[in-house]
Amino acid sequence: MHIDLTGKRALITGASSGLGAAMAQAFAAAGARVALNHLAAREQAGTLVETIVGCGGEAFAVDSDVSDAAAVQAMFNRIDGAWGGLDILVNNAGIEGARAPAWDGDPAEWMRVIEVNLKGAYLCARQALRRMTAQRSGVILNISSVHERIAWSGYSAYAASKAGLSMLSQTLAQEAAPFAVRVLCIAPGAIRTPINEHVWTDPQQRADLLDKIPLRRIGEPQDIAGIAVVLASDVASYMTATSVFVDGGMTAYPDFAHGG
Ligand code: NAD
Repeated sequence: MHIDLTGKRALITGASSGLGAAMAQAFAAAGARVALNHLAAREQAGTLVETIVGCGGEAFAVDSDVSDAAAVQAMFNRIDGAWGGLDILVNNAGIEGARAPAWDGDPAEWMRVIEVNLKGAYLCARQALRRMTAQRSGVILNISSVHERIAWSGYSAYAASKAGLSMLSQTLAQEAAPFAVRVLCIAPGAIRTPINEHVWTDPQQRADLLDKIPLRRIGEPQDIAGIAVVLASDVASYMTATSVFVDGGMTAYPDFAHGG
């Protein structure tokens, strides 16, 4: 089996840290040309571009807020100018929002999570699909979460955004399939990145988290990046309209291992 993305033009949103940074490096290592979207993280994104270029890859950084339609349009204009189109979009940018029961939370903060995680993915997918359906090829990977399926107290906007992203993906997949364009979700469990640093650096919260993971370890960004490369490649050419859970078994609800 040969996994090769040579020459493919890939855009990864939120690529300055965590899963996005790992995926950018993995796609570049597989031969893809990579545009690294970031939000005001010029230094981090620049360092990553230097690393990829230093390894013989092709990459550039683009600073855009994915929830802003005009900024997304400008980002795609830049990609058109550089490459004349796009083959792979990874909608990865996301935020959790502040933890609060729905009745205590700030509606503006709630909406900001939806704007980034759901509207942002829609705006980028919309631009990508215009190009991909016209060229009759392309792949969109949306990074959802186990919380597309598992409720999460204190994070109603996050869970709603990820469940919404799942159904958005399935619907876009249905729309785009006649044009040979695939749309998938990757649903990670707990992966060690800046988004959950407060959990894995705190011994008590870390132990509580491990109890929720049958494989008894927190995932690493590479656990997601490798799967993303496979799903973007022709190895996965018969996969669309589904979510791939990469979660150490979290969605098997390990508490039921004790009966019940
Ligand atoms: P992270 O905080 O390192 O990455 C999120 C990235 O999104 C950051 O680089 C941030 O700058 C960027 N971003 C935020 N708002 C943006 C905007 N408006 N426009 C452009 N970029 C923006 O954390 P991560 O864990 O790498 O998260 C990546 C994705 O994976 C997120 O969608 C997150 O919900 C999802 N996820 C992560 C985990 C996990 O355990 N780490 C689990 C499930 C899902």
